[in-house]
Amino acid sequence: MVKITINRDECEGADCAECVDVCPMEVLILEGDEIVIQNTENCSLCEVCVDVCPNQAIKIEDD
Ligand code: SF4
Ligand code: SF4
Repeated sequence: MVKITINRDECEGADCAECVDVCPMEVLILEGDEIVIQNTENCSLCEVCVDVCPNQAIKIEDD
């Protein structure tokens, strides 16, 4: 199962939203000022979100 975590202390939310823009599976979406993680089963483990995050705030784990 894929586990996605966002370090909220590091995340810039709506001021950034780079991960939302690049996620091809719409797992990361913007709701108000916050990044929301939804439908993690659709995550393709591409890690584009991890690569694009300027603050290394996203962690993708697959166990
Ligand atoms: S790319 Fe990183 S800092 Fe930017 S919104 Fe996503 S998790 Fe937050
Ligand atoms: S690893 Fe890929 S599919 Fe999964 S949340 Fe990140 S950008 Fe979206």
